[in-house]
Amino acid sequence: MIEDAESQHHDSQQTRDNPQCITNNRRDDWTAMADDIRRQTSDHATLTESSQKSDHATILAAGEAPSKKGSHDDASHDSGHSPDTSLDVQAHGPGSTAGSAQAASHEPSASATQQIAPTPTSPTVGSSAPTASPEVHPTGALQYVAPSTYLRPVSRAAPAVGLATGSPTASRPATRDRRLMPSPLDKEQIEGLRAIRAFLKVRTSYDVLPLSYRLIVFDTSLLVKKSLNILTQQGIVSAPLWDSKTSTFAGLLTTSDYINVVQYYWQNPDALAQVDQFKLNSLREIERAIGVTPIETVSIHPSRPLYEACRRMLESRARRIPLVDVDDETKREMVVSVITQYRILKFVSVNVKETQWLKKPLRDVNIGTFTDLATAHMDTPVMDVIHQLVKRNISCVPILDREGTVLNVFEAVDVIALIKGGDYDNLNLSVGKSLAMRSEDFPGIYTCTLNDRLDTIFDTIRKSRVHRLVVIDEASQLKGLLSLSDILDYTLNSPLGDADEQ
Ligand code: AMP
Repeated sequence: MIEDAESQHHDSQQTRDNPQCITNNRRDDWTAMADDIRRQTSDHATLTESSQKSDHATILAAGEAPSKKGSHDDASHDSGHSPDTSLDVQAHGPGSTAGSAQAASHEPSASATQQIAPTPTSPTVGSSAPTASPEVHPTGALQYVAPSTYLRPVSRAAPAVGLATGSPTASRPATRDRRLMPSPLDKEQIEGLRAIRAFLKVRTSYDVLPLSYRLIVFDTSLLVKKSLNILTQQGIVSAPLWDSKTSTFAGLLTTSDYINVVQYYWQNPDALAQVDQFKLNSLREIERAIGVTPIETVSIHPSRPLYEACRRMLESRARRIPLVDVDDETKREMVVSVITQYRILKFVSVNVKETQWLKKPLRDVNIGTFTDLATAHMDTPVMDVIHQLVKRNISCVPILDREGTVLNVFEAVDVIALIKGGDYDNLNLSVGKSLAMRSEDFPGIYTCTLNDRLDTIFDTIRKSRVHRLVVIDEASQLKGLLSLSDILDYTLNSPLGDADEQ
């Protein structure tokens, strides 16, 4: 049984056959939601103005209107701080794409809501209760680090047998025979990986989409500043772009694009007035001016196998991928949704029971980054950390004290909160002060140790919106980083020892 797909089957079958028809059927609801949005916030004036100017501009919304803040159920919100109320999708057709921004909103699923609540086993640092905000020190340090053994019941935390380099058996030199003969643990791990790959090959991106969802699409003529306000108010961190002049999908707007604007401003501090007037369609010029990677344009058809979507993400180092379909009649592109690495891995964890076979400790698995880690301290200027994020193309930098103890993590998405409202002065802050500005619902950071295993990490992904795990030792000293892209890469690319690996 495909649990995520099961709950959405009834409506989504129609969506899959003809995404546009949902748009049409629910037009009344969407119009009502558009009115709600207009009432709720003046920052959405851009939406309203643009919608009114254009005959076919629409704020698309099905189901509930999102709350002003904390709707949080956005497919594009992979790296955000909001809890996982889950996927949000969108049926978005060519006839309804001319607004400066469009929102197709859908009710969060019950299962998704459940995932908000951290369980006693949640490996968060500094935050264990769903309603209590993490206890954050004024400098931005979370007050304590929960032991990573929370990842699994203590009874299962015994050192794994077999080839564990840290285990008593592994400390002995491996004999030739031992190396040639996989242990039962190895075999089980391989079967687990095989099952996940097989699953990803027979499921499509459509299968991941829930019954109800929302999509916010930005027209490329929207001001960068206004797009930031909308993102923060809707609790999302990315949005597909739509060029209404050509009626084409124009790429995916992500935190990297805002970081590029920040860098441009940093290099040209006198150009603040100009920066204020940047539209989304000037992002490419900004990228050229500062010499960085262009905006992500990778996309995939929603009926392609998930395996292919994963491959495409890994190849492009994208952490999310837009699903773009072509309307049969008009032959125009339409953005259907955005799926994230998190969403895919959660889908796997919910539906592939063989994830429970992945019992090799991390120390025995070639996964994650353990050398040359980019780190910073609480008093590091936040701009230095932003430069590291760009230079290394990473999404987070662990923040350590002088002894190497993990205090917190600065994430690329934190940049959005820093510059919202066009206040670039915040870039002069220290990391500590900038982390103290995080919203109260920041769920904390997730940690694990080298003794932890992918079975329990998949459990954690199923229960909570995890973007990465910081690998620490018993003294909370930093050992490495395990990001979702590492897990995806290992899941798809680690050798299985046979010819038909792909
Ligand atoms: P991510 O940016 O989280 O998608 O990670 C991309 C790759 O960079 C993964 O292989 C991570 O393990 C690695 N990585 C993430 N953060 C850091 C960091 N602070 N220092 C070094 N490598 C990192």
